[in-house]
Amino acid sequence: MKNDNVARAPLGAGSDLAVPATMKAWVLNGPGELALQEKPVPVPGKAEVLVRIDAVAICATDLDVIAHGPPALIKGGLPFNKGFTPGHEYMGTVVALGPGVDEYKVGQRVTVEVHAGCGQCKRCREGMYTSCHNYGLNYGAVDKGHRANGFTTDGGFCEYQVNHINTLIPIADDMSDEAATLVVTAGTAMYGLTELGGLVAGESVVVVGPGPIGLLGVGVAKALGAHPVIITGTRDNRLRTGLELGADHGVNVTREDPVEAVRRLNGGKGVDYVLECSGAPNAINEAARMLNRGGKICLAAFPHEPVPVDIAHIVRNNIYLYGIRGEGKSATHRAEAFMRQKRFDATKIHTHTFALEDLPTALHYARDRVEDAIKVVVKARGVAVRREAAE
Ligand SMILES: [Zn+2]
Ligand SMILES: [Zn+2]
Repeated sequence: MKNDNVARAPLGAGSDLAVPATMKAWVLNGPGELALQEKPVPVPGKAEVLVRIDAVAICATDLDVIAHGPPALIKGGLPFNKGFTPGHEYMGTVVALGPGVDEYKVGQRVTVEVHAGCGQCKRCREGMYTSCHNYGLNYGAVDKGHRANGFTTDGGFCEYQVNHINTLIPIADDMSDEAATLVVTAGTAMYGLTELGGLVAGESVVVVGPGPIGLLGVGVAKALGAHPVIITGTRDNRLRTGLELGADHGVNVTREDPVEAVRRLNGGKGVDYVLECSGAPNAINEAARMLNRGGKICLAAFPHEPVPVDIAHIVRNNIYLYGIRGEGKSATHRAEAFMRQKRFDATKIHTHTFALEDLPTALHYARDRVEDAIKVVVKARGVAVRREAAE
């Protein structure tokens, strides 16, 4: 499977950029069943590079994929027993270039956004490659060139992965591996705020739900000049992290009515924007009542069941609703620029690091919020293996 047109790192003894023929990779068998296996190291094609994965963060969506399947879509169906490797929030070092690639150099550190659209559908042409109309059509006789790492193609819970050059973001030398895994999460928050209109300087923003996207949403909103930024949630330690990321106020909704608290903290008025990151069943109705007339809601999370929505309130008050999928329109590049300029410290949400071999334990920490885990990162090298019992 060696491609002679591929520029590779020198294979000299001791070079840590040398590319082996096989690698360790976690493979999803049945639901919830991961196994560490040897897989061939993939070979980059046209407009692709091979990335040595130096760190990968665990996302709540990974937990869904591993336990239930969706939103992963492998060969048109559920991702089980297809040799599929999940994981999508990774960064690493370029170690091989596909034919004709001169945009990147071997040895360059990059972080990776999830979606490489097909580049030929209407939405990809508009920069909305996370809403590619050829989503998942990347196999067999219908290969449209679409890729979504860890969703429709192999992802990052392994040592090497190929990536389209459009999905790469060069990172600053002083950005840690762990911080670089968070760029795509900040990019999702950035995409949400961009879709709401983007010009939020001096505008009031509520972030509902202090999960990773919500917390970095606070950092991005403040970096964009929003004021005030109010974060709401149920856990004081998460709200404290929100304040550390720049929120002007935190509201614990177990102690205070969030709609009343938001209006009080915003001088008696509703706010201009709500970034909904909780997925709580009543969140959309509460968000609509936190807003002033003509305000905008970005839905970056969703309840698992259909919920009643007060449409009349939304229509009468000219409230705009935006759904966002992932991190489109190069939002990840803008997020990296803010992190590079240290406009907020994304590492406030990084709590744990495990060795790649300890992925089951790392998933347990992320799923059950062991030791108040927020973002749990896995690294293939440089971290001692713990081999704790996972469940
Ligand atoms: Zn994610
Ligand atoms: Zn497309």
